[in-house]
Amino acid sequence: MEKWDSLIDWEKRAESEGNFFIDLLRKRGVRSVLDVATGTGFHSVRLLEAGFETVSADGSADMLAMAFENGMKHGDHILRVVQADWRWLNRDVHGEYDAIVCLGNSFTHLFSERDRRKALAEFYAMLKHDGILILDQRNYDAILDRGYSSKHTYYYCGEDVAVEPEYVDEGLCRMRYRFAGSADYHLNMFPLRKDYTRRLMSDVGFQRIETYGDFQHTYRDEQPDFFVHVAEKE
Ligand code: SAM
Repeated sequence: MEKWDSLIDWEKRAESEGNFFIDLLRKRGVRSVLDVATGTGFHSVRLLEAGFETVSADGSADMLAMAFENGMKHGDHILRVVQADWRWLNRDVHGEYDAIVCLGNSFTHLFSERDRRKALAEFYAMLKHDGILILDQRNYDAILDRGYSSKHTYYYCGEDVAVEPEYVDEGLCRMRYRFAGSADYHLNMFPLRKDYTRRLMSDVGFQRIETYGDFQHTYRDEQPDFFVHVAEKE
């Protein structure tokens, strides 16, 4: 995340993402938001800037420290940070929220189905009765079905960073991040199939799940690179 931040500036990222999430939240009359995957704070800061009451959670204290600093740096925002693991979220975060956001392809970091179910159930429990969960994920179906041998390269914000699946099967997707003028970087992810994620959400109680295709990337072919799920509690 640190590396990511150092290479892709926030203005560029905001530009490429547009107001998709903000518009969606506003349209639904959301006021309070819990950002469960704060990372270095990109989405939390955007939410604060847009006027949402925002609480920023993450499992990593280091990330939260960086997010707090970034909040100050980008517009003097004082982030309300809470260190919490998704699987035990209700233990550490209090209150109920109009919306929970889990963005930046974060849910892919859970490698057991039990953990995925537990995390989604905790998100569900922290929402008001008419609350929504917004969770995004890479389009792993395309990678799994096309096979990594085709070496489709994903570009972010133009040509700054190229991302390629280096190994992929139903249980693991190993991505290589190639940054201009710097060493490669690898990340292991769980390849969430779109309908599988939707099914898990519905299993824990979400009543209606809408899935959007891509919205943010400057390079794309016929398939979206990312999906965004919007799940309604009631
Ligand atoms: N939303 C931000 C963005 O797009 O810039 C950051 C996303 S970052 C890819 C994912 C974050 O999820 C990391 O900061 C990591 O610490 C956090 N995370 C991963 N697993 C977690 C868990 N089980 N509980 C809480 N946080 C977790």
